[in-house]
Amino acid sequence: MSASPIEVRAPARPQWWAQWGRLCLPSFVLAAVTALIVWAAVADLLQQGRLETVLSAGWAELAAPLLVALVVVTGICERIWPAEPRPVLARGHVQDACYLALHAIVVIPLMTLLSVGGATLIGSHARWIELRSTQHWSGWLLVPLTILAMDGANWLAHYADHRLDPLWRFHALHHSQEELSVLTSFRAHPLMHTTGFILATIPVMVLMPTRAIAPVLITVYVCVGTLQHANLRWTFGPAGRVIVSPAYHRLHHATDNQAVNLGVVLTIWDVLAGYARFPARRPSVGRTGLAGRPVPVEQDGPPRPALLLLAQQLAEPFRPQT
Ligand SMILES: [Zn+2]
Ligand SMILES: [Zn+2]
Repeated sequence: MSASPIEVRAPARPQWWAQWGRLCLPSFVLAAVTALIVWAAVADLLQQGRLETVLSAGWAELAAPLLVALVVVTGICERIWPAEPRPVLARGHVQDACYLALHAIVVIPLMTLLSVGGATLIGSHARWIELRSTQHWSGWLLVPLTILAMDGANWLAHYADHRLDPLWRFHALHHSQEELSVLTSFRAHPLMHTTGFILATIPVMVLMPTRAIAPVLITVYVCVGTLQHANLRWTFGPAGRVIVSPAYHRLHHATDNQAVNLGVVLTIWDVLAGYARFPARRPSVGRTGLAGRPVPVEQDGPPRPALLLLAQQLAEPFRPQT
């Protein structure tokens, strides 16, 4: 009879280490990076005495009357021609209305400061990327080119959201919606915007270091990006081959495949990368959301207070992965 082996046990880890060690470290790193960029922007603007002016300008661009009107009119169209008929106060609509409030209070100032912070950091550490020769170019050429490059940068950020796990943890909240509506455009984790705004700032700094894009053009860009979540079957006809339509973007929110149609406003990046799937002329309406519900969703189980669920959804990227 052989002797029983000596059992070697690792020393037990303290309880606090077991809890903190299981938290999702990359999410905290992204939060810290975002805080640093925002701090760089606030410090710079306070020094110039322009903090209030810049935040007001951000509000004017990102909460313009044109955008408010678009949301209201689209909401009416969704009642008349819904892709999926559902009550006005469907759980998904109520939850996304909470995200609209969060967008207005937190996300708009955050987006503004991320743009300023990104420009400040690039201006102080990577000034060599600025193309000074473009200041002699016509605005008719330069502005469309810059917006095109910005859209390309946004596509790249969206691609990274889907390919890199730490970024997907934040992007998954947007995809968790099972009842798409125009309000779903605002259903996003505030920290999801960091990579997009930094990447989109680069082409502006390269091409237009000494000039500004007219705020109305930014507002129109945001409007097109907002309309794509509408609960409508609209394909935009021939224009839908170039501009992202609600039917085109709905395919990106399909439960079984989110790897297609990553375009933010233009479809050309998807076409070039081989990710474009154009909807049929009379598109069918497939299910949306995430299989297995990795993010807590309002459609799951008995109704819960919307703000409590919002807190749980925002905390989800920081929880250990199961
Ligand atoms: Zn996505
Ligand atoms: Zn979307």
